[in-house]
Amino acid sequence: MFKCKNCNSTDKFELMFSPEYKGARRYAQVYNEKGEIEITVDGYKFIPDLQFMNACAVCSYCGQIYMWDYDMKGRS
Ligand SMILES: [Zn+2]
Repeated sequence: MFKCKNCNSTDKFELMFSPEYKGARRYAQVYNEKGEIEITVDGYKFIPDLQFMNACAVCSYCGQIYMWDYDMKGRS
């Protein structure tokens, strides 16, 4: 799980797409059996790491970017 260091919301984010990206921008997120987020973009599935989050994810609650950290409280 990831949390926004600005507003402390967890896993509330949207992806930023570069203006050159030509795909349909269909985006989905699910949790796998290990509690990790799996993101699917236009059929391509991957598990985001912190570097990816801080490059490509904007907090959908407060709008901050580059403010993500792992949320260890969310792991059991
Ligand atoms: Zn936020």
